[in-house]
Amino acid sequence: MNVCPLCNGLRRVTVYCSYCRQPMEDHGKVTDYFDDYSPYMDADVMKLVDGYLRTYTNHECVHLFYCPTCREEEVRFIKE
Ligand SMILES: [Zn+2]
Ligand SMILES: [Zn+2]
Repeated sequence: MNVCPLCNGLRRVTVYCSYCRQPMEDHGKVTDYFDDYSPYMDADVMKLVDGYLRTYTNHECVHLFYCPTCREEEVRFIKE
């Protein structure tokens, strides 16, 4: 089973803002934002409905990153 290093705290993945090149904050999986119940559902099930079909086949976790400088949110694919 593949696990996301960010979700499981295995290692830090630093993502830099494409606008200002500053480190961005990890705000967790985008699927966690879908509704109140999604964090408790099976992660692989959520991947099928997150709108990113490639994340399931490529074992990628879609994370939402936030840049406090630009106040911009960016979605990045984290390899599991
Ligand atoms: Zn993750
Ligand atoms: Zn920025």
